[in-house]
Amino acid sequence: MNSRRRFLTLSALGSATGFSALSAFGQKKPVDGPVILSTWNMGLRANDRAYEVLQSGGSVLDCVEKGVNIIESDPNVGTVGIGGFPDIDGNVTLDACIMDQNQSCGSVAFLQHIVNPVSVARKVMENTKHVMLVGEGALKFALEQGFKREMLLTEKRLAAWKNRKKELDGQIPEINVENHDTIGMVARDADGNLSGCCTTSGAGMKLHGRVGDSPIIGAGLYVDNDVGAATATGWGEAVIENAGSAMVVELMRHGRSPQEACEEIVKRIANKFERWKDIQVGFIALNKAGETGGFAIQEGFTYARHSGGQNEAIKSKSLLRK
Ligand code: ASP
Repeated sequence: MNSRRRFLTLSALGSATGFSALSAFGQKKPVDGPVILSTWNMGLRANDRAYEVLQSGGSVLDCVEKGVNIIESDPNVGTVGIGGFPDIDGNVTLDACIMDQNQSCGSVAFLQHIVNPVSVARKVMENTKHVMLVGEGALKFALEQGFKREMLLTEKRLAAWKNRKKELDGQIPEINVENHDTIGMVARDADGNLSGCCTTSGAGMKLHGRVGDSPIIGAGLYVDNDVGAATATGWGEAVIENAGSAMVVELMRHGRSPQEACEEIVKRIANKFERWKDIQVGFIALNKAGETGGFAIQEGFTYARHSGGQNEAIKSKSLLRK
């Protein structure tokens, strides 16, 4: 949409809702330059890499993809990519998605043996007519695209899985607040264009074949270049049930700041999910003006923000306190 048309649309929205065109997007104080936001403390490393990519002339889509790639490729991170915690049968299965400024998106789910699922998701977006590939089909596609087949289960994670199996003694694990460390990243370049991605090995000890929110466009990630972008971490089932990230973006469209939008959706999930005190769910969001926000159910959620040339870890506000 050209900018004049967009301004008129915003003005119309403003008069209908009582918000001015600018405050409809929370643009009290636009932030200059790139802004990169990602989940958890590991986001600091990912943001540094993402910023480097932008500085060396990469697109905002390159920036989010390459940013999270370094976390996927790190075997010491137990919740993303290689070294991820296995499912109940001992298989590491990965979920990821990516979305750009043109509303294009790609996704892979229940993908095994590939270290960088987010890059496969990008290939799905760019080299096929589809949005989502899963399981064997996703693996076949990845190999055809030149990705290498690798062993994702590390010795360390295998030992942890064996212990957990013994503890469970045939039981299905309860839902809990542990092992929620998906990396989701949303970014805006200096021209104001947005992209995002999300990548995870999912909930530890999940049933074989389980897919969480992270590869689901609208749940684990949503980007609308006219408004903003959001991504999620935590108990994926609750995020899917509430179309979490799409709702955060929709609230920003209707005038909430990123912070207000994240808080409202976390509260909505808490109202609707009976055992909400037993789960963690966190969102981060960024709007077109470069404003950011984050909120979670449980204390302990952190996110990383690169803005104005500074990269910092932010302790999220939460509904519950320890
Ligand atoms: N959201 C992810 C999932 O449910 C898990 C996480 O964030 O740790 O698969």
